[in-house]
Amino acid sequence: MSKQTHSFQAEVAQLLHLVTHSLYSNPEIFLRELISNASDACDKLRFEALNDAGLYEDAPNLEVRVSFDKEAKTLTITDNGIGMSTQEAIDHLGTIAKSGTKDFMGKLSGDQKADAQLIGQFGVGFYSGFIVADKITVESRRAGMKPEEGVRWISGGTGDFEVESITRAARGTSVILHLRDDAEEFLNAWKLKQVIGKYSDHISLPILMEKEEWKESEKEGEPGAMVKTGEWETVNKASALWTRPKKDITDEQYQEFYKAISHDYENPLTWSHNRVEGNTEYTQLLYIPAKAPFDLYQRDKHAGIKLYVKRVFIMDDAESLMPSYLRFVKGVIDSADLPLNVSRELLQESRDVRLIRDGSVKRVLSMLEDLAKHDKHEAGAQADGVTDVVSEEDKAKEGKYTQFYAEFGAVLKEGLGEDFGNRERIAKLLRFASTTSDTPSVSFADYKARMKEGQEAIYYITADTLAAAKNSPQLEVFKKKGIEVLLMTDRVDEWALNYLQDFDGTPLQSVAKGAVDLGKLQDEAEKKAAEEAAEAFKPVLAKLKEALKDKAEDVRATTRLVDSPACLVVQDGGMSTQLARLLKQAGQ
Ligand code: ADP
Ligand code: MG
Repeated sequence: MSKQTHSFQAEVAQLLHLVTHSLYSNPEIFLRELISNASDACDKLRFEALNDAGLYEDAPNLEVRVSFDKEAKTLTITDNGIGMSTQEAIDHLGTIAKSGTKDFMGKLSGDQKADAQLIGQFGVGFYSGFIVADKITVESRRAGMKPEEGVRWISGGTGDFEVESITRAARGTSVILHLRDDAEEFLNAWKLKQVIGKYSDHISLPILMEKEEWKESEKEGEPGAMVKTGEWETVNKASALWTRPKKDITDEQYQEFYKAISHDYENPLTWSHNRVEGNTEYTQLLYIPAKAPFDLYQRDKHAGIKLYVKRVFIMDDAESLMPSYLRFVKGVIDSADLPLNVSRELLQESRDVRLIRDGSVKRVLSMLEDLAKHDKHEAGAQADGVTDVVSEEDKAKEGKYTQFYAEFGAVLKEGLGEDFGNRERIAKLLRFASTTSDTPSVSFADYKARMKEGQEAIYYITADTLAAAKNSPQLEVFKKKGIEVLLMTDRVDEWALNYLQDFDGTPLQSVAKGAVDLGKLQDEAEKKAAEEAAEAFKPVLAKLKEALKDKAEDVRATTRLVDSPACLVVQDGGMSTQLARLLKQAGQ
């Protein structure tokens, strides 16, 4: 095939413009992205070769090579993975297949710094090469195809790219970056090794670089230089991070690994790395991010868990490994017991997967419980009078749960409806605003501890905003009696609370539903006055009822109001006004 010119998909062109024009705060991430693609390509080959060992051809040792040419100002990353056919090069390097691409583009604000963060989250992947290069050449040949069926792809990173057929004996892909003048620092072995060590040490394949040695100049008085020796050495640890013993891994390595798998710029809030033995054997390395991703509420968004079987990558987004309400968790699960050719269908039925999922959910909940426990350190809070010593480690956890909750609290609540087995643990982790706190910091347990003598229920109100909740007439009698009411303003609250009838034996009661029975909180005189009022107003109520016949089910005298003359309430077990409004909005 002779040379053909193709245009980039509109979104790619837009992304490229941003990549090259944004102030990229750390340009070196391009190497992480390209090495990660090389490693993915090797994973794919290994996976396809499970059914067709012939794909290995005569090169069964998968590896990545990084080399540079000072004169030509090129940096090349070569892998012997799956490679690309011509059509694949056109499709994969000319379009973005990810769901939510359009959504994502719509979120860009034009503010370079904010956008750079978003782009990082989205993962520019291959296109990050254009941070340092003004031209990229990709040469590739897919495993199993003939040498003449190779492809060359060239682009200057603007509107279009060229493809042509080439002959390439070696299977796999070379990405050749023609570096910009301001990126020449990457034509340096020491620099490259440093960047690889920082971002790609956890890659389980060997990353090779050609050894260099110092050579004195032959001419007297002239300086010597580093020259290539033709010998290649492995410059990374080449063992998957999660397979190493905990004690050999530094916090920084854990954090870099997180950034590599999550495309996040920030460090995670916390993580947990364990080898689990028992009915099924697996390793889990799970992270809680510090910031919600832009697509947290996207319907087709799955958990960010990568599944490996005995260190062979099987699939991304393995939704059967983490329930939807924990979709913000990122990490790796490596099973020793699942078959290598496990399919998504099989995953859903596997007993091992169920055990792994249960174990991972429990692990995440304990991480959260641990953060919650250390969220606030109240000095002198201990009853025994002993001054408590706070370890550095615990101190570092202060405020993290509040931070977590602000980002992911609404998602966690979905768990009440989704995970019956862990409902109580989830309920304990929830925090709400209340008539005593504008910030979501009140747990059900805090509430219970402050309940009035004789109070028999946990009272809450749902509304669209905090102000609406706080000023609701439904709250009047509670204010008067000094009874705390939880203020729920997340969209999901209404739905989620349907699944929680009580907390630790105390029923939950919406103050906007049914006749509020304050029970023992009402004294005899109040009860009597209410009964008398109901009696006295009987004729008025009957008239009102007649007048509102088609609009209201019932009209009754109430003790819940103090200042307002009337309010709307929903029948017990009825749909709340907020939910009704939501459904109306949704066109139901
Ligand atoms: P992602 O890795 O998230 O899919 P990238 O932009 O990094 O996104 O890469 C886009 C696609 O290009 C990959 O999904 C893959 O299909 C293809 N690709 C990139 N690099 C390679 C490579 N070295 N070998 C084979 N395919 C590659
Ligand atoms: Mg990639």
